[in-house]
Amino acid sequence: MKILSVNCGSSSLKFQAYEMPEEKVLIQGLFERIGIDGSCYTITINGEKTTKEVDLPDHQVAVDYLTKELLENKVVSSLDEIEGVGHRVVAGGDQFDRTTVINDEVLQAIDALSKLAPLHNPAAVIGIKAFQKAIPNAIATAVFDTAFHQTMPKENYLYPVPMNWYTEYAVRRYGAHGTSHQYISERVNEILGRKDTKVITCHVGNGGSISAVLNGKCINTSMGFTPNAGIMMGSRSGDIDVTLATYMMEQTGMSPKEIDHALNKESGLLAVSGISSDARDIEAGINEGNENCKLAQKMYVNRIRDYIAKYYVELGGCDAIVFTAGLGENSILTRKQIMNALAPLGVVLDEKANEIRGVEALVSAKDSSIPCYVIPTDEEVMIARDTYALAK
Ligand code: AMP
Repeated sequence: MKILSVNCGSSSLKFQAYEMPEEKVLIQGLFERIGIDGSCYTITINGEKTTKEVDLPDHQVAVDYLTKELLENKVVSSLDEIEGVGHRVVAGGDQFDRTTVINDEVLQAIDALSKLAPLHNPAAVIGIKAFQKAIPNAIATAVFDTAFHQTMPKENYLYPVPMNWYTEYAVRRYGAHGTSHQYISERVNEILGRKDTKVITCHVGNGGSISAVLNGKCINTSMGFTPNAGIMMGSRSGDIDVTLATYMMEQTGMSPKEIDHALNKESGLLAVSGISSDARDIEAGINEGNENCKLAQKMYVNRIRDYIAKYYVELGGCDAIVFTAGLGENSILTRKQIMNALAPLGVVLDEKANEIRGVEALVSAKDSSIPCYVIPTDEEVMIARDTYALAK
């Protein structure tokens, strides 16, 4: 069965076509700068990458090019061969605790949840409609970034704020990167050969979140009502004293929107280093002796250490720590510093084993109290698996 896995951003569309249940990737592609000058798309098939500069005024046009590529490259001989299209949706609120077949009611609910993810859910809605038009016979599913975190107990998802904020305004912890946390926690359980596990999953990329996973179910996660909670990130502050926001508004006359921008786009590694939100630039700065980069990296690592330590206690121990995403998979330095910072828990780094990028590996030493793994994340295959299960 052929399944499409789709991730629509406000100006982008990423996709992979799979043969299921083999999980064979048939073709993948990325449409960029949709609705902006200089749009283009890249298709990769049999390891060969082709980029085409085309006018992409909206997502529908991108989907039309996509279906044309599927046919021209003989991925399918008719679009009816695509039996399922799975869409990544950022916010599922507390209505969606699993992947769901999209009907009119579900589509309306995703649209209404745009208030929780104003940049992302509207793009998903546009993408869903465009695919419904182009491939009407395929079932469409929504795979929610928040669904995996819906198993958190109330004491972890509620904030200690006036309760009508929750009951009337849906203010609570939702978390994010759920599909990635689920993928790596399931994979590490396979490696450990058991399901009754205490796992701490670290999705450390430009955005980042840490989760505590007990027996395959999320019990806590560091992102909150929005993605700007938890660890320090590329350009997000992560946890701060929220009163900073009202104080700075009073002091400077900044609007809520400007504060939001400062905390999401001008903070984190970017703010402290003064040079970049990108970990590679920070590492280069450290190598050149840049003190601000050293400070940014120290703050970054400490905040990840603190969440891991917190979840270690909450889980009552830990069977595995897993690193994934841009830094988790590729930053040898960041992994090394996090693991060394966890020495009080008995974590021991294997310096040599840690010298890897982008591959699955055990990176802790034999005598480490907790095995630490790198597991490259694969949100696309999770979308395809869930969609296949529902299409079947
Ligand atoms: P993501 O958001 O998951 O794509 O992760 C992006 C982050 O991963 C950026 O900060 C990159 O600098 C970082 N990253 C990617 N490759 C490397 C690398 N080889 N070494 C250090 N950081 C990396």
